[in-house]
Amino acid sequence: MQPFRDPEQILTRTRLVERFLRYVAIDTQSDEESESCPSTEKQFDLARILVEELRELGLDDASVDEHGYVIAHRRGTRPGALGWIAHLDTAPAFSGTGVQVRLHENYAGGDLELGHGVTIAAADNPEMAQCIGDTLITASGDTLLGADDKAGIAAIMAALEILQSHPEIEVPDLAICFNPDEEIGRGAHRFPFDSFGAPEAITVDGGFAGEMNVETFSADRARVRFTGIAVHPGTAKGKMVNALTWMGKFLARLPMAETPECTEGREGFFHPTGVSGDAAACACDLILRDFDTKTLRTRGERLRQMAEALRAEEPRLRVEVEIVEQYRNMAEVLAQHPHFSTQLTEAIEQAGLEADLQPIRGGTDGSQLTAKGLPCPNLFAGGVNFHGPREWISARVMALSACTLLNLAQAWQSPRDSAETTRVS
Ligand SMILES: [Zn+2]
Repeated sequence: MQPFRDPEQILTRTRLVERFLRYVAIDTQSDEESESCPSTEKQFDLARILVEELRELGLDDASVDEHGYVIAHRRGTRPGALGWIAHLDTAPAFSGTGVQVRLHENYAGGDLELGHGVTIAAADNPEMAQCIGDTLITASGDTLLGADDKAGIAAIMAALEILQSHPEIEVPDLAICFNPDEEIGRGAHRFPFDSFGAPEAITVDGGFAGEMNVETFSADRARVRFTGIAVHPGTAKGKMVNALTWMGKFLARLPMAETPECTEGREGFFHPTGVSGDAAACACDLILRDFDTKTLRTRGERLRQMAEALRAEEPRLRVEVEIVEQYRNMAEVLAQHPHFSTQLTEAIEQAGLEADLQPIRGGTDGSQLTAKGLPCPNLFAGGVNFHGPREWISARVMALSACTLLNLAQAWQSPRDSAETTRVS
């Protein structure tokens, strides 16, 4: 095999940057308020372009389904099958309308002025020191950039471009999926497993050079409902039970040391996200997060105990705790597929990088896909400062993501392949 370790080769022989700039110009913001899939019609705008481009790259069966999932296959010359996945949408947290990119060529160090009073400070972005001489790409201060995850899409397309011009490079069958609605946690909901076909895949949706993720949070959400007794406040003495007052006590008793603002690394948290209601009845929503699923269950139990304690203090108050599973740490499943981490690490090292194994304090589509039987770790796409106006990416690092994809495909060997012959195209 011929390892790819020269990002310059990708930048000069493929249209990586041109593609990336085309993709970020298309607004694909998802919408958590929407019930439809895709949550926003505009995600089809990018999906349709990608179908055309995949066909130009020789993936003749490329198509987009009614839910906005772009699927394509490439027949390989080695046994086995591997999937490459990236997402179409950008985060609802910040505008992705009318992205005006800025190319900062031959970056010399220091802060980057984007306009609209927004600066990317070198002091806050230690990665910038590793990008001297690179072309850095940003938006203009009033939108996000959308490197999350259009850099992942562009890296996959560049890798396919290399394979098209070098048919002698031996890789297994490849299944490609560009899915909608990752940012609102629904990317895996309508995932077309049958037409995708590959039994193992990676999402290309991670951060800076070398990052790989085989671990995410395990996540539940909770709704706590408080029902009091409504009485006219003028004659309420001894009769009224104010639901809001008791909800306030409940929130105040959540341990401050276990909040997002006080935790990092492998520490979990309680995070109240919203409240609704009035003095008669109200509710608060929380998200619960831990890397260890048993600890997460205990966290839910602790909420129930807190509710019990309130009821003991005010027996007329009704408090109900409802807990719903969101996603599970993919490490629990990936531990049964150890070849995956090993080969991904090697592919990153072959690209001349150090593998940076980061537990994600969040979830990816891969967490849900892994839970649904498609083992799916996450690879860096290159971007930094996701979901805000200070998002930036180095073209070189994006090219290194494409190099890693090519290295992984060339060396790909799964224990499944000795047991059965997998073909997806
Ligand atoms: Zn993403």
